[in-house]
Amino acid sequence: MLVSLANMLADANERNYAVIAANCYNYDSARALVRAAELKRSPLIINIAEGHMKRWIKRDTLALEIGPMCDAATVPVCINLDHGFTWDVIVSCVANGFTSVMADSSSFPYEENIARTKKVVDVAHARGVSVEAELGHVGQGTNAVEDTVSNLTDPSQAADFVEKTGVDALAVAVGTAHGEYPADFVPHLDFDRIKEIKAACPIPLVLHGGSGSGDENLAHAAKIGINKINIFTDNQANARTKIYAAMEENKKMYPLDMFEVIYEGITEKTCYFMDLFGSTGKADDGKFEKFVPKKPLPMFGDL
Ligand SMILES: [Zn+2]
Repeated sequence: MLVSLANMLADANERNYAVIAANCYNYDSARALVRAAELKRSPLIINIAEGHMKRWIKRDTLALEIGPMCDAATVPVCINLDHGFTWDVIVSCVANGFTSVMADSSSFPYEENIARTKKVVDVAHARGVSVEAELGHVGQGTNAVEDTVSNLTDPSQAADFVEKTGVDALAVAVGTAHGEYPADFVPHLDFDRIKEIKAACPIPLVLHGGSGSGDENLAHAAKIGINKINIFTDNQANARTKIYAAMEENKKMYPLDMFEVIYEGITEKTCYFMDLFGSTGKADDGKFEKFVPKKPLPMFGDL
């Protein structure tokens, strides 16, 4: 069943767990994630990143393409635009089957971040679509030594930002970074900062750069106020490990079978994180409502 991010994370916020937000890039990778959610009876957020659209996703159609499959799932599923930077892309997603958009203006000065985010909230909420924004800035794992300690979210700004923008969820910078960290580097998560932000601003908080950030760190963060944890790299790495091993064993493997192995790797790792984040089993006793857009959506193929 499709649900909005606001509806899904209200349950996570109330019951102190986090939902995985895992990236998909085609129908089958989305199906691998839904399969994990059904196996674990867990809510699920499917991320589609603007950065990936530029490369090879026809942006107007992927959410519409996977929408019926997600809506038919026996667990709540949210389809979220991950790191929406461009106004045209964000508006297109709001109109075309996403139940949530992340408006990422975290690289802009504070007042400009507020103004740009508020503009998205007005358009998205008119359609019943939720909005996530970012305050502070989550950097890159390749620059982890600097990026995990700089541009952290200021707890004293969080309540003001949320009040002025009306966002449904807030991504915070508390010590993680995107992509792969240097070898043997485990980030230090600023748990006190998470608690301070949550106390000032009790809405669902989001952690980007979950991959490689340490199981204990993530499990603890999910208990003290983080309600959405973004995972991309770890799912891809698990699929890569499995396909290398399978091809080593059978050098004449057909792509038909390779895809099975790859998607099994994504499902397996997603199940692992659902257990770790405490969302396993939460699909059946949560307060979830079906997403109904306030204006009808276009049909896939009509575009
Ligand atoms: Zn991110």
